[in-house]
Amino acid sequence: MQTIKRALISVSDKTGVADLARSLHSHGVEILSTGGTAALMREEGVPVTDVSEVTGFPEIMGGRVKTLHPRVHGGLLGRKGQDEAVMDEHGIQAIDLLVVNLYPFERTVADPDCSLEEAIENIDIGGPAMIRAAAKNHDRVSVVTDVSDYDAILRELDQHNGQVSEDTRFRLAVQAFAYTARYDTAVTAALDRFQQSDRAQVFPDQYASTFRKRADMRYGENPHQSAAFYADLRAPAGTITTAIQHQGKALSYNNVADADAALECVKTLSEPGCVIVKHGNPCGVAQSADLAQAYDAAFSTDSTSAFGGIIAFNREVDELTARTIVDRQFLEVLIAPGFSDQALRILSEKKNVRVMATGQWPDAPVRQHEFKRVAGGLLIQDRDVDIVTESDLSFPSRRQPAAEELKALMFAWRVARFVKSNAIVYAGPDRTLGIGAGQMSRVDSARIGAIKAEQAGLSLDGAAMASDAFFPFRDGIDAAAERGVKAVIQPGGSRRDEEVIQAANEHGIAMVFTGMRHFRH
Ligand code: 5GP
Repeated sequence: MQTIKRALISVSDKTGVADLARSLHSHGVEILSTGGTAALMREEGVPVTDVSEVTGFPEIMGGRVKTLHPRVHGGLLGRKGQDEAVMDEHGIQAIDLLVVNLYPFERTVADPDCSLEEAIENIDIGGPAMIRAAAKNHDRVSVVTDVSDYDAILRELDQHNGQVSEDTRFRLAVQAFAYTARYDTAVTAALDRFQQSDRAQVFPDQYASTFRKRADMRYGENPHQSAAFYADLRAPAGTITTAIQHQGKALSYNNVADADAALECVKTLSEPGCVIVKHGNPCGVAQSADLAQAYDAAFSTDSTSAFGGIIAFNREVDELTARTIVDRQFLEVLIAPGFSDQALRILSEKKNVRVMATGQWPDAPVRQHEFKRVAGGLLIQDRDVDIVTESDLSFPSRRQPAAEELKALMFAWRVARFVKSNAIVYAGPDRTLGIGAGQMSRVDSARIGAIKAEQAGLSLDGAAMASDAFFPFRDGIDAAAERGVKAVIQPGGSRRDEEVIQAANEHGIAMVFTGMRHFRH
């Protein structure tokens, strides 16, 4: 246990920080702060000491140098039972708790008009230095880098008489190093973009130096294949590569591949959403105002396939959602931006389930190159991240889709991008109804998707249908009409488009062309 007597708080995101400081003060903790943070505390009536008073040095260079001083770093790095004498000699007082979040670098560079100078001024120097110092010295210091940890820390201080346990300090330190690593990765990626902006499409001559091994794996896709997982040095935040594992067995090769597919798919949903993946294909996708309901709808698309699946969410997993999953099904991986404390407690009932928290992801899609080995060579392409919006669509059929139909079409189209070709997705406005994946003929995928809907007891009457590529013949449309499909979205561009549109008109189907294809192999 480590008693907290002195805290340094320096945050850019000031959410909840006044309340935190107030509670720390009531525990008798002395609070040091940098300019903006200290000003806020004073406004809120919380007693605070300026860091510049401790260092005897003003903040200079427009904030570039605020906390970079031996009185601060000595206070964070001084070892228990070892450095007391040298601290006394130089007038360094120990700092027991550090609360820092960094300049909002990712948000700044997400603005397409952000200049290189602006990006550089937003590289936090003192913050990461303090975070790393405190995390290194977690033996004595608690370091909080996530606003969502404020409550937990206060609870622990309440329960343990102003002390923080060794386990908590260690957990916070791991989280802190992950945080600064992600931050530096974001800086690297942004600066690299500036370096490459005039040749963004150019492929580098060699790739090997951009990956570091993260883990050797027990085996690859099959037990006789050995395997390892490499992290791209420029891995963006909010990916399977940067996710933190809360519990469960080590990730397998197939887990990583499927969790990636599920996560990238769920990111494309705007409402609280759920994607369940098996063998690289979504077997159920849904969104709803309520996360547990989204899960329920995704699960009910194909409850047989969902067994042993990978489940991804685009919102923090709450207690009810965790309870519903745990009571209902066997699963391999659960991945989401975060988990409530109650959800984590419930999930811990299933010790083997890998629970992965990605943190919040940037809005911009992950634009990276994709590799595929062929015997003796390597194919490289851009990831398929572009997606049409409603203004890109054309409407060649006599009947135009109604608003609800258009919503269902756009939903089905989003999902189809993540289904292996030939992909057919039947859907309503917020959920899949049947998915046909990976067949060598489109009409077979259409049949399989419909069979799956039937097995799940779901009606396709009035449903939307998405096809990842054009229909080469009218048979796919005829088959869809027979099952009650009323709206179809597809790229168009077949030699027989006229015949396909004619079929839609005969069946009163509203047909939409996207002009963009989404093969996935
Ligand atoms: P404040 O709003 O309190 O003036 O500044 C808080 C921010 O300053 C935090 O995000 C923290 O990481 C950052 N920071 C603290 N010390 C330093 C420093 O010495 N140099 C730089 N560049 N940033 C610092």
